Amino acid sequence: MCGIVAYVGNRRVAPLLIEGLKRLEYRGYDSAGLAVVNGDGIQVMRSVGRVSVLEQQLAEHGIDDGNGHFAGTLGIAHTRWATHGAPTEVNAHPHTGRTACGHTLAVVHNGIIENYAALRTYLQGQGHEFTSETDTEVLSKLIAQLYEGDLKAAVQAALREVSGAYAIAAICGNEPHTVICARKGSPLIIGIGDRSYIVASDASAIVAHTTQVITLDDYQVARLCAGPVDKKDPVGGPWAEEFQTTTIDNIPVSQQVRALEFDLQKIELGGYSHYMLKEIMEQPDALRNCLRGRLDPRENRVVLGGLDRFTRELVRAKRYVFTAQGTAFHAGLIGQYLIEDMAKIPARCEYASEFRYRNPIIEDDTVIVAVSQSGETADTLAALAEAKDRGALALGVVNVVGSSIARETDVGTYLHVGPEIGVASTKAFVGQVAVMTLMALFLGKRRYMSAQLVSDYLAELEQIPRHIARVLEQSDHIRTCVDRYVDRDNWLFLGRWYNYPVALEGALKLKEISYIHAEGMPAAEMKHGPIALIDEGMPVVFVATRGSQYDKVMSNIEEVRARGGRVIAVATEGDTDISRYADSVFEIPPVSDALAPLLTVIPLQLVAYHAAVLRGLDVDKPRNLAKSVTVE
Ligand code: GLU
Repeated sequence: MCGIVAYVGNRRVAPLLIEGLKRLEYRGYDSAGLAVVNGDGIQVMRSVGRVSVLEQQLAEHGIDDGNGHFAGTLGIAHTRWATHGAPTEVNAHPHTGRTACGHTLAVVHNGIIENYAALRTYLQGQGHEFTSETDTEVLSKLIAQLYEGDLKAAVQAALREVSGAYAIAAICGNEPHTVICARKGSPLIIGIGDRSYIVASDASAIVAHTTQVITLDDYQVARLCAGPVDKKDPVGGPWAEEFQTTTIDNIPVSQQVRALEFDLQKIELGGYSHYMLKEIMEQPDALRNCLRGRLDPRENRVVLGGLDRFTRELVRAKRYVFTAQGTAFHAGLIGQYLIEDMAKIPARCEYASEFRYRNPIIEDDTVIVAVSQSGETADTLAALAEAKDRGALALGVVNVVGSSIARETDVGTYLHVGPEIGVASTKAFVGQVAVMTLMALFLGKRRYMSAQLVSDYLAELEQIPRHIARVLEQSDHIRTCVDRYVDRDNWLFLGRWYNYPVALEGALKLKEISYIHAEGMPAAEMKHGPIALIDEGMPVVFVATRGSQYDKVMSNIEEVRARGGRVIAVATEGDTDISRYADSVFEIPPVSDALAPLLTVIPLQLVAYHAAVLRGLDVDKPRNLAKSVTVE
């Protein structure tokens, strides 16, 4: 999910790779590494933390030692954002493999190899020894296993065996002027330079070298060769470059060379004006990654490998306690409903900061679920420790692999939505809710849920990324609507059942980045006091999808209108009734009550975003806020 840089040409590669990795730093990562072909061997250096640490390490042990270390002109490099195995030096890329004929090869990879466990068992049977916990090392060993003197053929053969998502670059000591790269689901661009090729996850690492690029499509493989024609005269003699693109089945494909745009900032933001907007807009892909390999309609089941170790305890648990703060707390509230609704196990969600200090009762067979994007939230970590001390089984729902919560829990499920850079959480919320939906189905199927219901939910979940994309198309419409109310300093957000936590989240988003005072609450609660706030023109956002609570919410809408409030409704497509009562309507495709939050939150994220931009505020750096709250 993070960064790849690879180069073959006539320049010393190590500094060039470091510079490229630095350009990709904005994508977020936890460790870095590079491999350089030197003579017919490969040298590898990896480190945890910033690219500057790797650079420092190279300066100390590598490029500057005058012994020709890391002096080659062919190499690959990587910034890793861990998905399989903690962010440690051994897990950092590149990963290597040794071919039967004794050559070493190295691979960098972004993405996830879903069937890595089966492949690993097979390769261990073939005598390969693994040093890391990553899915990527399986790929490097598999390519080595299939290598018969042609790296491209070996990569193609290996990719035919894997399922999942990848962008990869591979080199082999036996082919000192060749880079092979390929992609499926993760981006990769090839820059065509003077006597050289440079490959990278995005254009920001390429623009300094060339403006001529080709973009690989899914299932395509490229072989890039650049080197001296005459091995005896590598410096002064003639030079040859060649690139060739095929599919993984070796069918040739012709590629259009296009000119690259220059604006670096624009590239990093992918054309969006803020990271928050980029992360909102990439939610269809983020969710696809989150669900990848986890829905198995053929077997009518959910696959969550991270829960395997304690499946029995999880299924037989008597109580689930979700604990979290901020946006993750709202996701936890939805988790609580999902577990009760689908798995029929009593559940509650509590602020970690309250839970930890109030001497909570943990009965036998309680599961504590710690929810946190970063996995480092101090309050949540402390609540987790408290619950574990009192005998709870600990389950983590985090985005950052190897984070403290991931390490402190007995079982867990990662979000796999990629790094979140914008301070206001968006795609992580959707990932958390999706993962908790999967968990509830995983348990429900083993408890009282009918096979038919499981299969209906699986089918619906598969459609969610597409539905999100449809909701996102309303961004301009949402902006126009927000423009009408953006000078109002008080907003209300209301919803019922599954949409109540969404109302809380909508209010929180608006507060966080637009500094507008907003409150979220159950729609019925309004009557018990807050209704006094409603005056002429006050914006009241209703999450009012067609579902079991629809009629009740409609009554609440009437109550607001009767007092002069302006109604903004998130409603189900085709609901003509609601458009008669609401001043503005944002539509979501029809879904079950339980899956509605995955869609209803999207317009609310956009409301907050547009409000902040219309107010001229710095969306990515809201005042007083930190991305990960590591203090109490
Ligand atoms: N799945 C791989 C790992 O955990 C690659 C992660 C990435 O995309 O950075 O090492």
